[in-house]
Amino acid sequence: MTFALIAHDGKKAEMVQFLMKHIDFLKRADVQLVATGTTGSHVERAGLSVQKVASGPRGGDAQIAAMVTEGKVDCVMFFRDPLDRHPHEPDIAMLMRLCDVHNVPLATNPATALMIVAGFQTNFQNYDHE
Ligand code: PGA
Repeated sequence: MTFALIAHDGKKAEMVQFLMKHIDFLKRADVQLVATGTTGSHVERAGLSVQKVASGPRGGDAQIAAMVTEGKVDCVMFFRDPLDRHPHEPDIAMLMRLCDVHNVPLATNPATALMIVAGFQTNFQNYDHE
């Protein structure tokens, strides 16, 4: 399985926190992570391996959208920060449209991401999430 990760600057810490909380599931389900550049660097610093594409402002969201179109992504986690959005940060519209076109689950915040992980984990009985 492949999860794609994008987090606006104000949400990068929450993205890392979310992944660390679910690290057992990620490992047991052998989830591959792909992320926009800066989000990916944060994830790497937390000790997880991740395929980094370009940074958001340089089109990394478009690269992830292409992967969604090619059927290479099982879930997109795009943690948005509506209270402090920087003009250079990618907008979710294109990715959301393609996730809807291809029926790929898309979480825009940790609560929804938890629901998605909980859904996936029904296939992995040994995962004991809190
Ligand atoms: P980044 O892209 O992970 O490269 O920062 C997302 C963003 O710009 O919000």
